[in-house]
Amino acid sequence: MKNFSFHNPTRLHFGKGQIAQITAEIPPGARVLVVYGGGSIKRNGVYDQVIAALAGRTVVEFAGVPANPEFETLMQAVELGKEQGVDWVLGVGGGSVLDGSKFIAAALALDPGIDPWLIVGNKTPLKSALPIGCVLTLPATGSEANFTGVITRKETQDKLSFKNPAVFPRFSVLDPTVISTLPARQLGNGLVDAFVHTTEQYLTYPLEARVQDRLAEGILSTLVEIAPALLQDQTDYDAQANLMWAADQAMYGLVPLGQPLDWATHAIGHELTVLYGLDHAQTLAVTLPNLLAHTFDAKRAKLAQYGRRVWGLDGDDATVARAAIDATRRFFESAGLKTRLADYGIDAAEAAAGVEAQLTRHKRLALGEHGTLTPADCRAIVLASA
Ligand code: NAP
Ligand code: FE
Repeated sequence: MKNFSFHNPTRLHFGKGQIAQITAEIPPGARVLVVYGGGSIKRNGVYDQVIAALAGRTVVEFAGVPANPEFETLMQAVELGKEQGVDWVLGVGGGSVLDGSKFIAAALALDPGIDPWLIVGNKTPLKSALPIGCVLTLPATGSEANFTGVITRKETQDKLSFKNPAVFPRFSVLDPTVISTLPARQLGNGLVDAFVHTTEQYLTYPLEARVQDRLAEGILSTLVEIAPALLQDQTDYDAQANLMWAADQAMYGLVPLGQPLDWATHAIGHELTVLYGLDHAQTLAVTLPNLLAHTFDAKRAKLAQYGRRVWGLDGDDATVARAAIDATRRFFESAGLKTRLADYGIDAAEAAAGVEAQLTRHKRLALGEHGTLTPADCRAIVLASA
């Protein structure tokens, strides 16, 4: 196991009715920029609970953050926040809103004269950000408990992340009952995103971080176990609660400690979203099985461990490893996600060339847990996803 230091300062309020905790978290008299998306929170009662909990604070609303939050839209929120002199940012939504809120909070604290786009890709140091609170409405990204944001700029075809401890939320509310109103497509997306976050930190080699492996296997097994119940009945509280916590723990920061990480599926996926507008999780469902097949020899022992412990498979390493990849694809399909580019009407040869060019332009030249995956490898992986 490699050396590590770990600190996660975000206070988590988990359970039914916990949106009311906002009152204890944000001081009376604060000027709060409440950021949300296309309006789902107004239809499911989350908005009303948030506004009630903010009584005694000045509320400035910014609505309309789109999926895959766009720089241009977020800059409108930054302007509004400056005009209104806000001193807190409260994101209420899924990963797009929460990532966008992190960007807004960082941009509002940036020294004048610095281009806020430089935050994305960590091209300027961040000394601080406005304090951030989150109310999670879509369990998937773990953004509510980490210091990452993923921001898109359509005009330049960039979808890039930034990481900075300054944007750790001060607190996040995880009320599992919000899952009841998720469209089936977004529930499936959440299951797959949480699953792939875990595999990207776990299906790597060598095999040294045993506690982290078992945490990952616990998260993956939980997702496999609860998915059928949730897909059948989205109001099943036991399944809601376990999905929300599993997705959170996948990205909380414990699973990756001390081991090499393989974020290549996300790197390829971001390019597929920018090029074709696929949902984030759809790109992962298409990419992961072929990435595992492409890196099969290197990952074989770990894939076999995964196959035995998560899928209960028997046999020699190679057989179990192959069957584990098949089981993974079937799991994504069972969650309602298609795993072939052709199913989305996309030509794989064109997509493969596009992804190779984008990764090269973004200087993502050495992906995978040991930096051995080149843009040409990624082209082959996308081509295999036909
Ligand atoms: P999302 O883009 O935040 O939301 C997708 C859709 O779900 C929106 O249309 C939203 O509607 C709807 N929705 C959310 N909660 C709902 C609810 N309770 N009831 C009904 N509808 C609801 O989806 P996401 O998958 O959470 O986030 C994806 C983004 O996160 C991508 O940009 C991805 O790259 C990024 N990401 C970030 C991290 C990280 O660590 N920060 C990790 C992985 C991915 P409204 O707009 O109307 O609310
Ligand atoms: Fe993700």
